[in-house]
Amino acid sequence: MLTRLVHPPQVEVVDPPTVPPLYTSTTYGGEALDRIDGILGGREAGFQYSRQGNPTVAALEGALADLEEASWAVVVASGMAAIAAALEAAVPPGALVLAAQELYGATDGLLSTWRDRGRITLRRAPVGNLDEFSAAIQAQRPAVVFVESASNPLLRAADVPALADAVHRVQGRLVVDNTFLSPLVLAPVALGADVVVESLTKFVGGHGDVTAGVVAGVDPDLARAVLAYRTHQGAAASPFDAWLAARGLKTLGLRVERQMATASVLARRLAAAGLLTWYPGLPSHPDHATAARLWRGGFGALVSVDLPGGRSAVDAAWRAFRLWGRGTTLGDVESLALYPAVASHRGLSADERLARGIGPGLVRLSVGIEGVEDLWTDLATALGVPRRPDVVT
Ligand code: PLP
Repeated sequence: MLTRLVHPPQVEVVDPPTVPPLYTSTTYGGEALDRIDGILGGREAGFQYSRQGNPTVAALEGALADLEEASWAVVVASGMAAIAAALEAAVPPGALVLAAQELYGATDGLLSTWRDRGRITLRRAPVGNLDEFSAAIQAQRPAVVFVESASNPLLRAADVPALADAVHRVQGRLVVDNTFLSPLVLAPVALGADVVVESLTKFVGGHGDVTAGVVAGVDPDLARAVLAYRTHQGAAASPFDAWLAARGLKTLGLRVERQMATASVLARRLAAAGLLTWYPGLPSHPDHATAARLWRGGFGALVSVDLPGGRSAVDAAWRAFRLWGRGTTLGDVESLALYPAVASHRGLSADERLARGIGPGLVRLSVGIEGVEDLWTDLATALGVPRRPDVVT
């Protein structure tokens, strides 16, 4: 009886399922003694142990490598694990990393911890000023340049081909965090980046219920190093998260197209209402031309707006929102507002924030898939601007 409880008969599936199965087994084994794990997630190779490779995770890796126009993709436990894995793989000990001034707070934290421990030398340059960034690359000859394709919260657009050219001229590598755009809008590797990292927690998952990240690139040595990082640091993604992310990919196109179309309407209306609005689709955005040249299908689904009333105006909006959520993530089907001064950029002083263009009234909006008029009505009411939807449609 005890043996039968532990070893029930297994079901054999003859016809292939239409939806990829979710493999939760931690261990795989058969008669062959010498099967080893597939090096790139093992799409056709065998699997042994889930921390090293899992069929559900590998299926997602195949799909993402294709979308990123890369030759390999490795899925890990979070966007931060992806960033740590990529940097660990690409930066030799003690080497110089030239990073954008405008980075996600936890990335900043990782880089400064590594700098303080002597793991890297760290320098910064503004991603919104290509001349200054390129000059810094030429003068400092970094091993790795790290930028976000669209920065947080002002959505400065990295000129990926120009940065890749500049860093390749000094034999360095370009690593791009593409989280704010998703592979639908930009494929940095196709534009010359050596490695792309992305938080799948955002647009790819899309429903606020996944934590995962991906590293993708073309150099097989980097793939090996990223896989070693995942195996040795234990940064494997949960198969269920990988399965949800793969499901998210199926609607990524529909969701993000809709999110971008709505973001564009809201941004134009906010600007028409006289508010300082940061959206790369607006000709007034400093990187409008770069984004128009490089991004596909739209200008992203994030909009930042500066409320002249400062913190008290933001407080009032937070109390007034009925439809807009207030939260720290982005890219979900639900629209969310974020106040960088107490969230993503709370680690900076008010003066440091101001130096980066983040005033006390700056609010970041992640636009979801709800009805555009419902979103506008709630937003206009909460921000105290006239509704005038007739002005811009
Ligand atoms: N990169 C950017 C630009 C982000 O905004 C975030 C999270 O907000 C991350 C990376 C980290 O992703 P995760 O939360 O999946 O670790």
